[in-house]
Amino acid sequence: MSKSNRSPWPDNHQSAVSLTFDDGSASHLEIAIPILAEYELQGTFYINPRGDDWDQRYLPWRDAALAGHEIGNHTIQHICARNFGWDIDKCLETLSLKEIEADVLEAERRLNALIPEQPTRTFCYPCYQSYVGEGINRQSYVPIIARHFPAARGLGETANHPLLTELHYLTSSIVAGWMSGSDLCSLVDKGTDDGRWLILTLHGLQTEPNREGLLTPLFHGNPLPADSFRELCKYLAERRAEIWTAPVVTVAERIIAWREKGTS
Ligand SMILES: [Zn+2]
Repeated sequence: MSKSNRSPWPDNHQSAVSLTFDDGSASHLEIAIPILAEYELQGTFYINPRGDDWDQRYLPWRDAALAGHEIGNHTIQHICARNFGWDIDKCLETLSLKEIEADVLEAERRLNALIPEQPTRTFCYPCYQSYVGEGINRQSYVPIIARHFPAARGLGETANHPLLTELHYLTSSIVAGWMSGSDLCSLVDKGTDDGRWLILTLHGLQTEPNREGLLTPLFHGNPLPADSFRELCKYLAERRAEIWTAPVVTVAERIIAWREKGTS
């Protein structure tokens, strides 16, 4: 891809990165957000505003939104494939399109009530899975998400080409707990090659061994050491002139406007 009018990136940036954080772990508030602030970076936090006290419990995420981070929709119930064994009665295989849509829209209603200042946000597929039903009755729920959101994050090996990527199933790379800072910097180098948009997916960050998320007790393997995350943020800050780091909704809206304008 050439770097002239064939690119949607602002201010002569050559590529884009979005840092995304799933499931509303307390470590996002305690570790990730302070480090992001130190390097003047903003991320996207996909949360599940659940429980009777959601309007109080998730108030810290409102503060995050007011600091410039995107608070994205990750459904309320976080329903995934039956194969996880979490709930064999309520899983994507037994769910209808209407039921998944109701869950997504209730999460949206709560997020709008919590953060009225941020009316537009993106969606993130729980467990990267975008279907309901199974076998010959399996159906994609991507069209439902496409009706309600400008973009949605999934999973995939190749970073997003701004012209070619499917905005309602954006690819992202998983940041594993064993990765060092230099592993993460290499991931950025590789993913932003050729003007692409790399989305990184993080879960918990390590505050102390075996710490559980206080807000959402889902298990996603070992948390990433805070030092690795700090090194990633430092690298992104150093390369700020070339790599545009911004929340998913900000990058997606820029791509949408660029595509509408015509890219040739
Ligand atoms: Zn999740």
